[in-house]
Amino acid sequence: RPLIGVLALQGDVREHLAALADSGADAVGVRRPEELDKVDGIVIPGGESTTMSRLLQVFELLEPLRERLRGGLPAYGSCAGMILLASEVLDTRPDAEHLNAIDMTVRRNAFGRQVDSFESDLEFEGIVGDPVRAVFIRAPWVERVGPGVEVLAQVPAAAGEAAGRIVAVRQGSVIATSFHPEVTGDRRVHELFVDLVRG
Ligand code: GLN
Repeated sequence: RPLIGVLALQGDVREHLAALADSGADAVGVRRPEELDKVDGIVIPGGESTTMSRLLQVFELLEPLRERLRGGLPAYGSCAGMILLASEVLDTRPDAEHLNAIDMTVRRNAFGRQVDSFESDLEFEGIVGDPVRAVFIRAPWVERVGPGVEVLAQVPAAAGEAAGRIVAVRQGSVIATSFHPEVTGDRRVHELFVDLVRG
């Protein structure tokens, strides 16, 4: 079983640990650089991205994490985690750091002007069978993707004003979703990530 870390500074860490354990990985919380050194992949959970950015600096994990990502560490970010993996973030605090792991522009709290939180069924590239139930909680969306980035899911037409917005992406072995599969009990997104980590 691959060893997958969940960045455990803030956010819904326990839900991701449980989802990874259900998906065939050994899952551990990561709070220190020595813990980061050991993992084969990392999950950045949902929570609050500017707080997580600050805590990454306080816990002296920002540069070690950037370095491992540059070295090809597989990563999955949900919601706040998506924001942290981006190369550019709109509507954030000027001092918030991000990790540049996916060539994309993300807008924070993007759905807020329409609906703060909502659920929707999505077609998700690489996941067969039933659509994925997506839970959005003050979620970001992706406004631009670079040439190396694959779009995995978009808001369906039935969702009205936000239809077509990009909400899941992949660049190499790094994936990100605007929504929170860790809260629904459907493990297919985590299984996809565990497969990526296995290579
Ligand atoms: N709005 C949060 C942020 O800006 C993300 C919300 C979430 O992770 N559920 O970080």
